[in-house]
Amino acid sequence: MSSIDHWINGRLVASESGQTSPVYNPATGAVTAHVGLASSAEVDAAVTAAKNAFPAWRSTSLSRRAEVMFNFRQLVNENRTFISELISREHGKVPSDAAGELARGLENVEFACGIPAMLKGGYSESVSTGVDVYSIRQPLGVVAGITPFNFPAMVPMWMFANAIATGNSFILKPSEKDPSISLYLAELLAQAGVPDGVFNVVQGDKVAVDRILQHPDIAAVSFVGSTPIAKYIYTTGTANGKRVQALGGAKNHMVVLPDADIEMAADAAVSAAYGSAGERCMAISVVVAVGDVGDPLVDAIAKRLPAIKVGPGTDPSNEMGPVITAEHRDKVAGYLEGAPGEGATVVVDGRTADLPADGFFIGVSLIDNLKPDMKVYQEEIFGPVLGVIRVATFDEAVALINEHQYGNGTAIFTRDGGAARQFQFEINVGMVGINVPIPVPVAYYSFGGWKSSIFGDSNIYGPAGVDFYTRTKTVTSRWPDPATSSINLGFPETR
Ligand code: NAD
Repeated sequence: MSSIDHWINGRLVASESGQTSPVYNPATGAVTAHVGLASSAEVDAAVTAAKNAFPAWRSTSLSRRAEVMFNFRQLVNENRTFISELISREHGKVPSDAAGELARGLENVEFACGIPAMLKGGYSESVSTGVDVYSIRQPLGVVAGITPFNFPAMVPMWMFANAIATGNSFILKPSEKDPSISLYLAELLAQAGVPDGVFNVVQGDKVAVDRILQHPDIAAVSFVGSTPIAKYIYTTGTANGKRVQALGGAKNHMVVLPDADIEMAADAAVSAAYGSAGERCMAISVVVAVGDVGDPLVDAIAKRLPAIKVGPGTDPSNEMGPVITAEHRDKVAGYLEGAPGEGATVVVDGRTADLPADGFFIGVSLIDNLKPDMKVYQEEIFGPVLGVIRVATFDEAVALINEHQYGNGTAIFTRDGGAARQFQFEINVGMVGINVPIPVPVAYYSFGGWKSSIFGDSNIYGPAGVDFYTRTKTVTSRWPDPATSSINLGFPETR
């Protein structure tokens, strides 16, 4: 059985902690490897490597740092089929979906290729006679990223592309459920020209995370994962003086107004709810049917479900793979079990689907007649389950979404531009789609939800990512003639 190691100072390093975690192929249920879980000392070794690499890397020219990002982009593109299959083997999503993840991740690398332009500061000449002021952005030093299982390539790229391009050195703590991809990306980064120690991977669990949160030489932590852990990372990291951005879970609503094209809305809801087996933080998990839209919309969605091909990613005709673990499959099934008792109607039950015997499969499910007080409505299920909640008016739909604990993404389907604009104006959610079900911002904007979907002030990637991984230094400069020099104890004035 193979073991999955750390990547420290430009090479693979086997874990010596004696602690490991099994890694599965979710499509077969088989254990494929064991990942070593870092001890605190192993995290410290990565921090030392990163700290030693930082002075030379931050002094490396912007052109060279951009060139390294261009090289990396090229290498990922050349190997995209292999990487997609690797993601599929450990995550379970079908390779075509993994290729989509990779493409969206690479957009962040492309953004980082333009880092020289992003790091341009401001310059004001003659703020006072003969005095100029300018601001520069400098890297923080050693920064860390802690990532979830559901996007093992894309979410690390949200972080490390900007972190490295801005001149930091980086420590990635990937999910222990699908850790291999991080090592492959590390190899490609090294081939692209990232010097040893600038990018490190520490495999691990809570022990590694807690050491990252405590380590005095780590300046900033980016986290993406579930809300309880995001909150913990934010409170602990900031209490230890670190800059922290922590993105959490979601429950994304898609509003369908009576004037919407029902067939188009049904296609969008099905694609956004069941893609990647619903294991996307921007998946649509609730359709809000306004007015008399409920019956035709539920019929249109239900009619599409038998055609969805569920199975292992090794068969290219499959559209949806398994969920990540047997425990998670059972948790998803638990929501279906509990829904009728809460008063909801299970229209399509994924537990009874005809599925492969092995692996962590569960079929697609549709639950109608959700109510705001139901657990199945309130909680993030993170599986192939779409709920429908019926409301009478647009205002009720907006109020419902605004009261929900999560505010990651939302969408509205309508032909009424005024209603769409009002929705965009009033909704308390960070990312909004208008006739777009999964409004993940392109890499030159920034990603972030509201409410319990984020902790801290900073969105991730794009311009917000550049801000997060740098700090501003403002320089006031004067080149006077020494002959004019004198002492003046008054506060410096500009006029
Ligand atoms: P998770 O919170 O269980 O794990 C995320 C990371 O935290 C992993 O690296 C894990 O090892 C670590 N971790 C887990 N438990 C910990 C603990 N007790 N102490 C310290 N560290 C711990 O999340 P997951 O199951 O891997 O990912 C799914 C979740 O991530 C969902 O809630 C999903 O909505 C969310 N997510 C959010 C976004 C976003 O951008 N908002 C994107 C992707 C995923």
